[in-house]
Amino acid sequence: MLLTRTKSIHNNNSPNFSCSSFKDIHTLFSDDPNYNSSPISTTKKPNIFHRVRRVNAVLRAFSTRPAPKPELIQIPGAEKKIVIYFTSLRVIRSTFDDCKAVRSILSSFRVSMDERDVSMDAGFMEELKTTLGEKTKLSLPRVFIGGMYVGGAEEIIQLHEAGELKKYVEGLTPANLSTCEVCGGNRFILCDACSGSHKCYSEKNGFRTCTACNENGLIRCPSCYYATC
Ligand SMILES: [Zn+2]
Ligand SMILES: [Zn+2]
Repeated sequence: MLLTRTKSIHNNNSPNFSCSSFKDIHTLFSDDPNYNSSPISTTKKPNIFHRVRRVNAVLRAFSTRPAPKPELIQIPGAEKKIVIYFTSLRVIRSTFDDCKAVRSILSSFRVSMDERDVSMDAGFMEELKTTLGEKTKLSLPRVFIGGMYVGGAEEIIQLHEAGELKKYVEGLTPANLSTCEVCGGNRFILCDACSGSHKCYSEKNGFRTCTACNENGLIRCPSCYYATC
């Protein structure tokens, strides 16, 4: 009697217990995938594919990226020539080498080139900063072609190696190969007012800074500088 009761209790309990727990698990299983799978399959999958497509498009754009386009910074009145800001001083070797390489590349096209040497006139650096809207010191060289800003040594060398640079110089004025008789091609002459000392003396005021020339006692050549500007 006791045995059968316990057996029956055991028999009664165990199926109940196992059944309810299976049911719970089953409900969890059957509910969850239905609940989760439908939003994933309808909304998330296209998003993932869309993202992959976008990444591929970006990667393709990078791999076939053309050489940098001239930016919209312009020098008015320089539409028919190259303007290069550079230094002829060998203070920083890499800068000097970059300037030399870029001038050499650009001069090979034999088009009108306005070379603005900041070591001859610090005013050129101020002019460049104003044009580019920069307040800090700028690296040199900086090149404008057809009045538009193209960039520095990296951009010019990259364009040249890609064979793109010749497209930029198309239509520019051919270079004037004759040397200016007034300045000998230096584009600057010694200041008459101070004889190049950048100081003027008068009995009334003593020595004063000459206002006619730059910090080097030079003035821009009246014969050739403004003719090519
Ligand atoms: Zn002077
Ligand atoms: Zn000259």
